[in-house]
Amino acid sequence: MKILVPVKRVVDYNVKVRVKSDGSGVDIANVKMSMNPFDEIAVEEAVRLKEKGAATEVIAVSCGVTQCQETLRTAMAIGADRAILVETDAELQPLAVAKLLKALVDKEQPGLVILGKQAIDDDCNQTGQMLAALADLPQATFASKVEVADGKATVTREVDGGLETLSVSLPAVVTTDLRLNEPRYVTLPNIMKAKKKPLETVKPADLGVDVTPRIKTLKVSEPPKRSAGIKVPDVATLVAKLKNDAKVI
Ligand code: AMP
Repeated sequence: MKILVPVKRVVDYNVKVRVKSDGSGVDIANVKMSMNPFDEIAVEEAVRLKEKGAATEVIAVSCGVTQCQETLRTAMAIGADRAILVETDAELQPLAVAKLLKALVDKEQPGLVILGKQAIDDDCNQTGQMLAALADLPQATFASKVEVADGKATVTREVDGGLETLSVSLPAVVTTDLRLNEPRYVTLPNIMKAKKKPLETVKPADLGVDVTPRIKTLKVSEPPKRSAGIKVPDVATLVAKLKNDAKVI
């Protein structure tokens, strides 16, 4: 069984993002970029399934600019066997990515597609669900445990009320939550090995997909600055302020 793992190149989670002065988006010039953290968890899970003998090949795929190759090399250093870059400079929205992934699902016929539950740059949380709909596959989102046996995946999901366990028939789409696993550190020998693994590049047109955006960003702005707090001399004043000024009790 093949596992397809889509990995997105995003602004590193340690970077404090800045909004461009014209409000058209976030400034990503000269900013450290990394693999979306949920996708690292997805690659780790796929590699663990291969190590357990539940999968035979792990294929990482990234859609975006040429530099996404670095993200794919990281995926291969974690343990993916090969990679596909769908190269484009166009702005890619979740629906376009889902259509590209659907075309790759048709081509590669994976038994499982493991995506991150969301990309930390746009927080859309849409691509996995859209892919499942387009490819007409069962889906189990926000996975905190995945077990594969007898043509089925048993997935524990983190939902508001606690944990929900689903059984989905394969092929299926799974999206990862934070507690699914702790990705391994990539070692230097594995980084070197990853450089020799195959990385194929295709264009959206080769997959017959039109990636024209359907949504227009009108404005991006910083969250309002928090105003300074005040100190109160005693509990009675605090209670009075909460009651009369903040009106929260
Ligand atoms: P989103 O719906 O944008 O929050 O993204 C959810 C997941 O879809 C990510 O964690 C990735 O696994 C996948 N994904 C989104 N955009 C891309 C992309 N440009 N290339 C590869 N995978 C992507």
